[in-house]
Formats: sequence, C-alpha cells, structure tokens
Amino acid sequence: MKTLHDFSFENKRALIRVDFNVPLDSNKKVTDATRIEAALPTINYVLDNGGSVVLMSHLGRPKGGFDASFSLEHIVYKLEELIGKKVEFGGDCIGANAIEITKNLAAGSVVLLDNLRFYEEEKKGEIKFADKLAGHGDIYVNDAFGTAHRAHASTAVIANNFIGSSCFGLLMQKELESVRKVMLSPSKPFTAIIGGAKVSSKISIIQNLMEKLDNLIIGGGMSYTFVKAMGGEVGNSLIEEDYVKEAKAILDSAEAKGVRILIPEDSVIADAFSNDANKKTVPSSEIPTGWMGLDIGETAITHYAKCIEVSKTILWNGPMGVFEMDNFQDGTKKIAYSVVAATERGAYSLVGGGDSVAAINKYELKEHVSYVSTGGGALLELIEGKELPGVAAIEK
Ligand code: AMP
Repeated sequence: MKTLHDFSFENKRALIRVDFNVPLDSNKKVTDATRIEAALPTINYVLDNGGSVVLMSHLGRPKGGFDASFSLEHIVYKLEELIGKKVEFGGDCIGANAIEITKNLAAGSVVLLDNLRFYEEEKKGEIKFADKLAGHGDIYVNDAFGTAHRAHASTAVIANNFIGSSCFGLLMQKELESVRKVMLSPSKPFTAIIGGAKVSSKISIIQNLMEKLDNLIIGGGMSYTFVKAMGGEVGNSLIEEDYVKEAKAILDSAEAKGVRILIPEDSVIADAFSNDANKKTVPSSEIPTGWMGLDIGETAITHYAKCIEVSKTILWNGPMGVFEMDNFQDGTKKIAYSVVAATERGAYSLVGGGDSVAAINKYELKEHVSYVSTGGGALLELIEGKELPGVAAIEK
C-alpha cells in the first residue's frame, strides 16, 4: 500500500482529495466537523514534513455551476480553527486565481479550493478536468474514503497524472487496513452482526461474507424476512416479500458452508411504530396481526452476546432494532456492549456503515471498539468484495 511515508514532502505541494462534505446550519456554520477532523493527521503530516497543502473536496449536491450556498468558503473558519493556522481560499477549483495561488506555494501554506461539484466534469470523470486539477500539486494524496467508491475526476481519474507520485492519506490507510484485516485475515471465530431495516441492501454483503464467517448474527427489521422464510408468522413487521426466497437461500447456504446463523428467537413487538406503543415480548415466529417486531428479545440478546463475546473478529453493520426509540433500543445497546466486551478481551471489532455508527456514538462507545469506519457506501462496497475506483487508481 503506497502511503505518505513513501514520499518526501520537503518543498512539495501535496494535492489532497479530502471529504469535507460536512453539514451546515442555516447560517452556514459547520454543525459536525468530524470529517474535517478525520483529515487533520494527513494535513499535519505534510506540513510537519516541509510541504504545502492544496485541499480539494465536494460539498453537498449543487445543481450545476457555482452556487454560493454550496461554497467551501463557509468552512474556511473551521479549518483554520482546527489546523491552527491561516488557510487561503483558492476560489474556483480550476480558475486562474486558484492556479496563480498554488503555482508557487511556500512550504507550510494551506490552500482550500472550491467545490469540485460546481463542474459536472467532476462526476463524469472527465480527463481534461482532472488534468487541470492536477496542476495544483506535485504529489497526489487521496484521503477521501467516503467517496472512494466513485470514479470521479478528483478521486480516481486524476491519479493518471501522478504515476509514481500518488498515495493514500492516513485516514484512507487506516480504513483500508481495518477492512482488509477483517476480510482477508480474520482471527477465528469471525462473527458478522448484520442488522438494519432491509435485507435487500445487505444481501450482497451477506453473500460475500458467507465464504469467510463462522457466525452470522441477524437483527433489525431484516430479521422478519428470514423468520418468514422459515415459515413463521411475522404480523405487521417490516418484510420484503421479494427477498423471502433469497433469505431462504442464505439459510441453506449457511448450512452447507457450516456457518452458524443466528435469527432472533424472540422479539419485542409493538402495536404501532411509535415509542409510546404498547409492547410485549413474543417468539419471533408468532407475531400477531396488528403487531410488529421493533427489537430483538431478551433470549436473542443472551444468545447473541454469548456468541459475540467469544469471537476474535467482529464486523458490525446495522442496528438490532429501532434504537432511535428508547423503548426499542435494548437489543442494539446490549449488543454494542457485547462488542466492547469482546474487544476488551482482545477481539478486533470493526463497526461501519450508517446506523450502527450512530448507535455506537449514541452510547459513547466509539473509543471502546477497534475501529469505527467513516465511510458508508465505500465500506459496504469493500465488504461486498468490490474494487473501489479511488483505491484501484492508486494501487495500479
Ligand atoms: P439500515 O440503514 O438498513 O442499516 O437501517 C437502519 C434503520 O433500520 C434504523 O433507522 C432503524 O430504526 C431501522 N430498523 C431497525 N430495526 C427495525 C425494525 N425491527 N423495524 C423497522 N425498522 C427497523
């Protein structure tokens, strides 16, 4: 893996693709700087090693052409606060002003270009646009894991302009190392905990994992498609009729491959999709009409926890229930604590992809698992076994 450590940045301009797609409030103030913070180690590494930094990113979904509400100029104040030094705003990412600024950069300087997606050429991956961007740097660094699954000009195509002088940033490096550790050389037993709303969005992940796993734990709304596939009655629970067959195929394939698959034996059911609904615990295969499963039950939690706590590698994607509602968060919360307990006993735990990250943050357990991924779609594609354009472009 080509990393920052393979280069000398002395008097070199590092052109760094970052993911500064941060949420802004109505006054255009940054409400969550996590993504900016995640890029700081790379930025500081280059500065500490005698280089200068040119940052490029997208922000939101501008409809075509410049739109002040999507300008990265709004985040300059936050970046300055976090880096602790002046950041020069280059304006338009390929404009004459930006080119002039980055042409003769003094070591230690930091420049932020404006939103790449003001140009439709970015998403189209146009070579000429990538060529213009490439003029801003001597070494290309990709540290935008969140967009590594896109073959855009700044994430993939541009690497052709930097043969022998491109590498991953420290965030990308950590993300790739953690997912490779889990997918390529997991210590056994290897357990995946897959939850969330829908089977349809997780099917490729499950299929790819099936070759590697010892245990597959299923939770969340997707459980009921599996319960139905096993002939159970699921009442008004979330169900994807079109995927009952796929769920059955997964159950059969698990049996054939010797993967232990855990479906929740019991569920906390509710008579409405509301935190204030009446609730009770029943076997997951005996949910009456008018009721829906919104969390895994106590028996399932106990079995899941036992399995997790003796695992040596754990991958967790998707909550066990509607954890956003406090009355249906028990399963997700207790499973989160089991993952922490296993980690404390030496297991490697990777938590990633959307709502399981939100859950880990809700219970303030981020520092107690091995790694929490910053990439939603990019992480899921890696687990599905796909090659990411942003990764391939540097590795080729
Ligand atoms: P996903 O994005 O597919 O990982 O799904 C996450 C969402 O699934 C969360 O917002 C949860 O509230 C929701 N969810 C989890 N369990 C259930 C359930 N039993 N019924 C309905 N929605 C659920």
